Amino acid sequence: MNNCPWGRITGVRPVKIIKNMLQSGLDAGQSKEKFLEDYMVSEEKARLCLEIAEREIKLLEDIDENDICLYVGIPFCKSRCLYCSFVTAQSAEDHSLIPHFMKALKAEITAAGRLAGQHNFRIVCVYIGGGTPTVLSAEDLSKVIGYCRDSFDLSKIREFTVEAGRADTIDNEKLSALKEAGVTRISINPQSMRQETLTAIGRQHTPAEVEDAFYQARKTGFGNINMDVIAGLPFETGENFADTLRQVDALNPESITVHTMCIKKGSRLHERLGEYALTDAETAKRMVDFAYGFMKQTKRHPYYLYRLKYAAGSLENIGYSKEGFECLYNILMMQDISTVISVGGGGVTKVVGPDKISRVFNVKEPREYINRIDEMIERKKVIFI
Ligand code: SF4
Repeated sequence: MNNCPWGRITGVRPVKIIKNMLQSGLDAGQSKEKFLEDYMVSEEKARLCLEIAEREIKLLEDIDENDICLYVGIPFCKSRCLYCSFVTAQSAEDHSLIPHFMKALKAEITAAGRLAGQHNFRIVCVYIGGGTPTVLSAEDLSKVIGYCRDSFDLSKIREFTVEAGRADTIDNEKLSALKEAGVTRISINPQSMRQETLTAIGRQHTPAEVEDAFYQARKTGFGNINMDVIAGLPFETGENFADTLRQVDALNPESITVHTMCIKKGSRLHERLGEYALTDAETAKRMVDFAYGFMKQTKRHPYYLYRLKYAAGSLENIGYSKEGFECLYNILMMQDISTVISVGGGGVTKVVGPDKISRVFNVKEPREYINRIDEMIERKKVIFI
């Protein structure tokens, strides 16, 4: 008997498999049976995937092939989280590159906008991620959004997300700038609401700062806020994780994304594994199961799911949302449904065609991005031919 709840599935998108079965004409019961039989997943994972796949199909009813997403990567952070493998720039010296980065980004957005126009693409979602985009000043955030508005047709936009990520990068001025620029959804990510954990994982904010940032965002008028948490952080017990979920829920965000702890190569955690008490697979599973039940109770349903290599217990990441607040970008991007034009540090541009998916990668490191901006611009043209 295979102990992994995902049985034979090694890929990152299990929902896609069952969704293809539904779309090939099998009904829900047949799809689930086939999924169980072909992939030997656990009954609960099969049920979960079916639930998400059915929801996705409804949510994507009116998306067509010219509807695409725009991703903007801001590769700067305030400090590096213990588990992060992303090459972000954190030092004052790194941050002195921001004016040069802005100039390069403007050139790339302008060129990408021309490309989108030539192919009659309509942007339905914009997602500004990172890094931590709110490391930028209010003025620079407004400028980035302005470059997008000047270069792309945003008349059909349904969602505009900015990862406000770390509470210690958020203030009233930035929130107001985002709101005024038309951002509809932000993410404020505590990961844990336990101070000892935040200190251990290198996040320089307190649980109280997370709450303050959340209330400020509400006061500024944001009616769609996501919060990310991680199940299985070092030194955390099941009760610590449950307590984080309760504290986050008390703020009443529209969606909560539950990640499972991953030990990624290139992270500080990977380099210094012996120093940290890691969560065993059984505890991680209990945490993830608790999250599922808790979200049901608090009226948030699972709407997207993906897996990552090296996750505790081979478990998954799940986005839970209240009805009507599902993040369209997360679904379109994770399920390889729509073309995504990505600009900025670490962006992956993806052209989704009828028979194949082509990808082109932007470099992550800001100095490299700035120095090689012409190449980043040219590279994209090739896959859009
Ligand atoms: S905030 Fe995100 S991108 Fe930045 S260091 Fe932490 S995990 Fe990495």
